[in-house]
Amino acid sequence: MTEVDLHLHTTFSDGTLSPTSLVEMCVRKGLRVICISDHDTTNGLEETFAAGSAYPELVIIPGIELSTDVPGSEIHILGYFIDYLNNDLQQILSKFREGREDRAIGMVRKLNEMGLEISWERVKEIAGDASIGRPHIAQAIVEKGYVQYPKDAFDKYIGREGPAYVERMKLTPSDAVKMLVKYGGIPVMAHPTYSEAKSDREGVKSLREILGELKDVGLMGMEVYYGDYTEDQIAYLKNLSDEFDLIPCGGSDYHASGNPGEPEPGSVGPPLSSYNALVEARDRLH
Ligand code: AMP
Ligand code: FE
Ligand code: FE
Ligand code: ZN
Repeated sequence: MTEVDLHLHTTFSDGTLSPTSLVEMCVRKGLRVICISDHDTTNGLEETFAAGSAYPELVIIPGIELSTDVPGSEIHILGYFIDYLNNDLQQILSKFREGREDRAIGMVRKLNEMGLEISWERVKEIAGDASIGRPHIAQAIVEKGYVQYPKDAFDKYIGREGPAYVERMKLTPSDAVKMLVKYGGIPVMAHPTYSEAKSDREGVKSLREILGELKDVGLMGMEVYYGDYTEDQIAYLKNLSDEFDLIPCGGSDYHASGNPGEPEPGSVGPPLSSYNALVEARDRLH
């Protein structure tokens, strides 16, 4: 168990719990420091802080998760303490979300061409006002009984190599790091290596090389204590974080996804010392 969970998703992106329900769950699980890190949006933060005000002892870090392109794969970059009230930042994020919507339409079209009766209206309904993502489409596929769990929809249809996958325009990792720094965010590489629970996701290729490059443009941390990582994976990443002088971060990456065995908030995360290091980094940056 852990007192710190720095990677959580809500209904404002592809999680299925509202910020209020998630905050309550985190308090129940004994967490002391959490970060809401929705994909390409900070719109859940207002409700998160409102819910958190009932628990003055709970520290909430405003965060975000950006997806970036590398040849044949992608890297996610978290931004802790992002200045989410900045208007320029919000304009950029809203462009990213438009890109997500166009691409989701494309994936539904491909599924239809394959004979799956998934309606765009239903996918939109599931997503609501959220930053739309593949888990929303996966939910629609599950609902129609084509697969049992969302994860199976990735394996069969919408994973990177799947027949209904569609790309979208993304930043390069280094542009994402620079963008986060510009808006006061502490950039942290998310899930750098393979995760059994997210089967279409490989580890970052040439990780050492990329860490070197990103460190030069402002990367300050990387996830070490993540989701379903094994002790071996954690030990490997802890060594790398030491080698590159990066703050070892992490969390459950909880989505309340409905996948069996999903790591829950509080099940995995970094020590409090990592949180303290992030605060120091923020004070240097702001
Ligand atoms: P998107 O941002 O639309 O590309 O969707 C990526 C999201 O889908 C990730 O943040 C995870 O929440 C989820 N995801 C990715 N791969 C899998 C997988 N194999 N099984 C279940 N969920 C996945
Ligand atoms: Fe997600
Ligand atoms: Fe991610
Ligand atoms: Zn995530």
